[in-house]
Parts: sequence; structure tokens; C-alpha cells
Amino acid sequence: MNPVGADHWEVVVVGGSAAGLSAALTLGRARRRTLVLDTGTPRNRFADHMHGVLGNEGVSPEDLIGRGRAECSSYGVVFDDVEVQTVREAPRTPDGGPQRLQVELTDGRHLETRALIAASGVTDLLPEVPGLAPRWGKTVAHCPYCHGLEFADGRIGVLGFSPAGLHQAELLRQWTDQLTLFSAGMGELDLEQVLRLESRGVAIEPSPVEQIRGEPDGVAEVVLANSETHEFDALFTASQMRPNDSYLDELALERNDSPFGGNYIAADATGKTSHQQVWVAGNINQAPANVSISIAAGSYAGGMCNLALTSEDFDIAQEL
Ligand SMILES: Cc1cc2nc3c(=O)[nH]c(=O)nc-3n(C[C@H](O)[C@H](O)[C@H](O)COP(=O)(O)OP(=O)(O)OC[C@H]3O[C@@H](n4cnc5c(N)ncnc54)[C@H](O)[C@@H]3O)c2cc1C
Repeated sequence: MNPVGADHWEVVVVGGSAAGLSAALTLGRARRRTLVLDTGTPRNRFADHMHGVLGNEGVSPEDLIGRGRAECSSYGVVFDDVEVQTVREAPRTPDGGPQRLQVELTDGRHLETRALIAASGVTDLLPEVPGLAPRWGKTVAHCPYCHGLEFADGRIGVLGFSPAGLHQAELLRQWTDQLTLFSAGMGELDLEQVLRLESRGVAIEPSPVEQIRGEPDGVAEVVLANSETHEFDALFTASQMRPNDSYLDELALERNDSPFGGNYIAADATGKTSHQQVWVAGNINQAPANVSISIAAGSYAGGMCNLALTSEDFDIAQEL
């Protein structure tokens, strides 16, 4: 068995945000030697405030992570702000000890661990509309549960670039009756779709959106190909979510197509993947997960990872 020393860990957690910190908190309290590796770019870093997170309403993402880190540190969890490049199976030891994982970092260091929790989230790929990116997390959002109430009864536009545009338009009608769907990016809507949206007063604008003007925090001026300009208090659009999981490629984990688009690492309800020593938690394998769901997933994965290690501890003891 490998000694547990400076570069040998019981659990390495990749990602130190909602899911990763929650997993690390559970593991720290279970007295597992846990290392969190993190590049410090949580998905919601563009927003000043989080909503819908029980007990943390209006708290900034930065504050939640700061408090989470302090809580984990108080239980002995160690943090290293570095990017993981590759995870692979470590060569087996001559004594036939249990399989370990080797973690290669982008600064050239290598670590070994008994188990790994991947909580590295997704990257949002935004529609390429000039003026949209600077507004992301301010006056352009994707999730009405997170940011809908802040613009309730205001002028809201939905920029549709996939079938998700229809879903967003129906959902946002719950927050305002001043709603416009910009549909050019979705192709021509069929009559049934048009009648359904019109039945609740959703305006449909088929002219392509050319750019968005105005200060990122202020009124959005949507400029159309037909030269019209429409003003909105907020815009909603669906990003394409790309999981941050390429460092796991060498493990060839099983994957599933997600109904939300994309190919995500397959895992059971506890986050256990097709590899005995790898769990996932949060957005990395659950496209619709918000902060609360990611915290729950991290807690579950952390607990189940500790349970597996506990079982392995008994297996090893019996073999001695
Ligand atoms: C603009 C915006 C606003 C949002 N607002 C809300 C809200 O108000 N309420 C809410 O509930 N949800 C909100 N969300 C959703 C929320 O951000 C996510 O659900 C949540 O952050 C997912 O947590 P996570 O831990 O899975 O991933 P993330 O929070 O994305 O954290 C992943 C971490 O992994 C690190 N990482 C990635 N790759 C590597 C690597 N190779 N090596 C080391 N570290 C790595 C990253 O730096 C990051 O710190 C919002 C999302 C967006 C885009």
C-alpha cells in the first residue's frame, strides 16, 4: 500500500466551488486526508448575488466559497490553487496493493490518491451576439429561478437559439407579461408553437438579432436586422454547456447523452462513475444543477466515497 504522505492523498477533489467544497466538508469531517485542487473560476462568478440558495439568499458566490473554504480548512482539508491536467491509473505496486490514481497538474507536479471526486463544473458557451457577453450574469441570464424575480413585471426578451428558447419563453411568462421571444436563431416556428405563445401574450420577433447596445448593468437595446431597436430590462438565453472533464479522458469513463444537450459522464444517484475510485458531483454531470443541487450532490458523493474507502480499509486489514 502507498504511504499517505505529502503527495499521497486519500481523496483528491477537483473543483473548489459548491459541489467540491460540499464533498470536501463531508470528507474533512470524516477525517479523510483530502486535497482540493481549484482554478478559481466558478460558473456563477459573473453574478454579484446568488438566489434560491436556502440560508444564503443574496449572498455573493465569492462569499459562499470563502466561507466554505474556511469551514473545510477547519477540518484539515488542504487547498491548492492549480489546474488538473490528467488523471490516470497509477502503476500497480509489486505487492499487489489496491489501485491508486495518479493526478498530473499543469505545473508539472504529480500526486497520488486513493479516490477522486470530479466537481469541476461546466463552461458556458454563449451565443455570438455582439454586446451579449459583457451582460452575462448582470442583465443577461439563463435561469429564471436564479434571476427572474429581480426583473419581475419588467420588459424581458428571450434570445432563442435552440428548442430551449421555447421552454425559456414559456417559463418566463411566470415572471412577466411583457415578454418577447426573438426566434430567428431557432428557425421558423410552426403554427402550433406560435398560437401557444400568443395565447398568453408572448410577442414573437422573427428578425435576427444583430447586436445588443447599452451599459451592461442598464437597459438592453436589442438591434435587429430589420433596423428596429427594442428596449429590455433583461434578456434570457440558453448557453451551450461544455463539461470541464477532459482531464478524465484517459480513464475512459462511461458517458450518457443529456436531454439538455451534450455528452456527460454517467454516474449513479450517489455520483459513482464507471470507475471504482471516481465520483462526480455538481454541474459536471448534471446540466440543470443549481448551487443547492450541486451542494447536495457533493455531500452525497463525499459520503459515499468515504464509505468505499472505509470498506477498502477493512479489506486491506483482512489481507495483512
Ligand atoms: C451567470 C450565472 C448565474 C448563476 N446564478 C445562480 C444563482 O443565483 N443560484 C443558483 O443556485 N445557481 C446559479 N447559477 C448556477 C451555478 O453557478 C452552478 O449551478 C454551480 O456553480 C455549480 O457548482 P459546481 O461546483 O458544480 O461548479 P462551479 O461552481 O462551476 O465550480 C467548478 C470549479 O472547478 C474548477 N475547475 C474546473 N476545471 C478544473 C481543473 N481542471 N482543475 C482544477 N479546478 C478546475 C473551477 O475553477 C471552479 O472553481 C448561475 C450560473 C450562471 C452561469
